[in-house]
Amino acid sequence: MPPKSTRPASTPAPPSRGRTTKSKADPARIAEIFRRFARANPEPKGELEHVNPYTLLVAVVLSAQATDAGVNKATQGLFKVASTPAKMVALGLDELQERIKTIGLYRNKAKNVIALSERLLAEHGGHVPKDREALEALPGVGRKTANVVLNIAFGESTLAVDTHVFRVAHRLGLAAGKTPLDVEQGLLKVIPEPYLRHAHHWLILHGRYICQARKPRCNVCILSDLCTSEDKWFHGAPPKPAAMQKVSP
Ligand code: SF4
Repeated sequence: MPPKSTRPASTPAPPSRGRTTKSKADPARIAEIFRRFARANPEPKGELEHVNPYTLLVAVVLSAQATDAGVNKATQGLFKVASTPAKMVALGLDELQERIKTIGLYRNKAKNVIALSERLLAEHGGHVPKDREALEALPGVGRKTANVVLNIAFGESTLAVDTHVFRVAHRLGLAAGKTPLDVEQGLLKVIPEPYLRHAHHWLILHGRYICQARKPRCNVCILSDLCTSEDKWFHGAPPKPAAMQKVSP
């Protein structure tokens, strides 16, 4: 069965605000952007290590205002001893805090992980629910976390907007908006359906490794001829195909 889409029923033109000047709404331009992402990296993967939907959920909760690498370092040992809600509750708050103390805000995050594990045991038979409302009702889980879990664990075409996705969406003129929710809804309206499933990862990886915040690497960007961002410094001819590189690391 194809992945469930969260695309809104209507498809109005994208917002006209933003930092680009070319026709941002041009569907051919947007389709070409995603065609190139797909060609460069057909099966993009998230970088948070996990062994099942539960450990993915925990990793995403721990990743708020932290790097994936920092979270992976802490969870490497943690998930060997606590890969289920029952094992996490048995591990206990003090031991969990000790194991994740290298991650920012670890005290509060540990409390949320124990509380959400207890809730999963009490209300969902120890399983991660495949349901946005139920996910967002868990302690420490917001829309972004729910979107990541629904996308990676359950294959849904959700789109989590983090700082990278927010920036790249604006620079590429894909979606304007002042909040992550505005940008998420804008992206869902303009990204062609076949590309929605992986759009989240392509945009994150592009922002993390190529379209970086302070110094976008426009000279090696596979989208440089399609990008009209005022942040783009590469204004010459687009790089030759041989010079183009994979978007992912
Ligand atoms: S050309 Fe530069 S600003 Fe535009 S998407 Fe590529 S890296 Fe970002």
